[in-house]
Amino acid sequence: MSRKSQRREIFAGNWKMYTTLSGALDLVKEIIDGLGDIANREVIVFPPAVHAREVVKACTGKISVGLQNMYFEKEGAFTGEISPLMVKDTGSRYILIGHSERRHVFGESDGMINKKVRAAYEYGLEPVVCVGELLDEREAGNSEKVVESQVRAACEGIGVDQMKKMIIAYEPVWAIGTGKVATPEVADSMHKSIRNVLAALYGNEIAAMVPILYGGSVKPDNIGGLFSLEDIDGVLVGGASLKAKSFLDIIHV
Ligand code: PEP
Repeated sequence: MSRKSQRREIFAGNWKMYTTLSGALDLVKEIIDGLGDIANREVIVFPPAVHAREVVKACTGKISVGLQNMYFEKEGAFTGEISPLMVKDTGSRYILIGHSERRHVFGESDGMINKKVRAAYEYGLEPVVCVGELLDEREAGNSEKVVESQVRAACEGIGVDQMKKMIIAYEPVWAIGTGKVATPEVADSMHKSIRNVLAALYGNEIAAMVPILYGGSVKPDNIGGLFSLEDIDGVLVGGASLKAKSFLDIIHV
């Protein structure tokens, strides 16, 4: 059995701040209708939080649901924020943490991301933790170093058993929404380097279990080259997950 076949294969769609409720429900229906036999592949959608409950209902267990962001406190005077308890209460299973738009548009620090990861486990949510370097960090030859420090910071205080429920998404910031996809070789080598960091922190067995997804301008015409590689266990898709046809073409790679 190859190392890859021991890991879950995950195809996730991040809908960002798109879709009305009816658009979200139509999209779920079209995805479910076109899913067919996907064997052991798991599909996750991350709708806007206000649609979560309805989307969970519409997914009827065939597709998993996660939310795109939350705060780390259970409740309190935090106007506009959503707590882990509330995310759990929608019936969502996953929570996206540290997406590049959260880090770079909303200024989330590694410290805050770690608090959110801890809060996710505390409330029984499974974190999908996003890491990735900026273009100037790549050009300076610092990609591995930057991503290693993001992974170490996110995992601070997280135990071995909790790691069995973590998913990591490597999303180079320069590839998100830009149409510039990382070459499969660049992505695979970054995934290997993340796996080495996990091995140093948690040992080889855990490192071999954690699914590492690639994200950044994934489309039906580039998924083949990416998903065929040993350390790419699935993808986190933004733009191309907003149309059922292109998302399904990616899932059916
Ligand atoms: C994302 O939102 O995580 C993402 C990878 O977006 P896109 O596929 O549009 O680059």
